[in-house]
Amino acid sequence: MIVQMGTGARAGDVERVIGTITAAGHGHHLSEGMERTIIGVLGPAPSQDLMEHVQVLPGVELVIRISKPYKMASREFHPEPTVVRIGNVAIGEGEPVLIAGPCAVEGRESLLLTARAAKAAGATMLRGGAYKPRTSPYSFSGLGEEGLRLLAEAREETGLPVVTEVMEPDQVERVAEYADMLQIGARNMSNFPLLRRAGRTDTPVMLKRNYSATIEEWLMSAEYILAEGNPNVVLCERGIRGFDTATRFTLDLAAVPLVKGLTHLPVIVDPSHGTGRRELVAPMSLAAVAAGADGLIIEIHHDPVEALCDGPQAILPETLRQIAAAIGPVYAAVRIPVLS
Ligand code: PEP
Ligand code: MN
Repeated sequence: MIVQMGTGARAGDVERVIGTITAAGHGHHLSEGMERTIIGVLGPAPSQDLMEHVQVLPGVELVIRISKPYKMASREFHPEPTVVRIGNVAIGEGEPVLIAGPCAVEGRESLLLTARAAKAAGATMLRGGAYKPRTSPYSFSGLGEEGLRLLAEAREETGLPVVTEVMEPDQVERVAEYADMLQIGARNMSNFPLLRRAGRTDTPVMLKRNYSATIEEWLMSAEYILAEGNPNVVLCERGIRGFDTATRFTLDLAAVPLVKGLTHLPVIVDPSHGTGRRELVAPMSLAAVAAGADGLIIEIHHDPVEALCDGPQAILPETLRQIAAAIGPVYAAVRIPVLS
């Protein structure tokens, strides 16, 4: 249930609604927008009596029953789009944000080279994994804390804020000391202790969709983070499993406008993992922006053949530059209000 207060509601009216909700055994979450206050009622489904009681309290404009299992992530709860700010970068404010970097941090020289190239090509954030979730336990699984230190050094030099993956609940605070945005990868989308722990930090979180997750499951995972008090969640569509092995995954671009209609959270797209093929990264980047994505996260490498992971999907910095130049006109051409 969501309680929408009228524009003339006073602080005392809001307190009275909260008091009534609390007395009925529910938690609440307050969202104070520019124009009006919205109170989300948390916990089990509220009774009809409570709904009717709240409806007649002073200052209350509307009581909405929400059938969706996620509340804080829903558009009803938070009608204005959320803008996630990471330093000077704003995700969800309009212009799509370009995040680029290697799949994994491989070493100091290569990371600095790649970070400089990403910046020169037009990226405004740097990606790179220090802890890598690999399908095989025998594959390169990242440099660990040394990788985090190198990412911090690359940020120092280039000024690009850093997003990097965290895989375990007990790593969250450590990774957050170095990272500007925590990445929760596809394989960990339903790692609920990890989601909770990330929700207790104030570091923005990029939550990737698991390749077998429904849209609702993805939004429920976002709800875990929001419910712990961290409002800065960015969703990332990175491809789902289909029957066809011609691409690594099937990039679900319909999810972008669909999810943006259901939630206020920004949605970005990963065309690298979504396709697994470098020749598809540029066209899918443009398609993602046309579909309303708030940004792109793309893997680049100076020498993809030698990449320690995901070489077949890595593009050269020059291709990134071309993508950066092309997305502006696409965004300008399709700037239609997708949500209304
Ligand atoms: C990644 O971005 O490095 C990654 C492992 O992606 P995903 O979790 O989407 O597979
Ligand atoms: Mn990768």
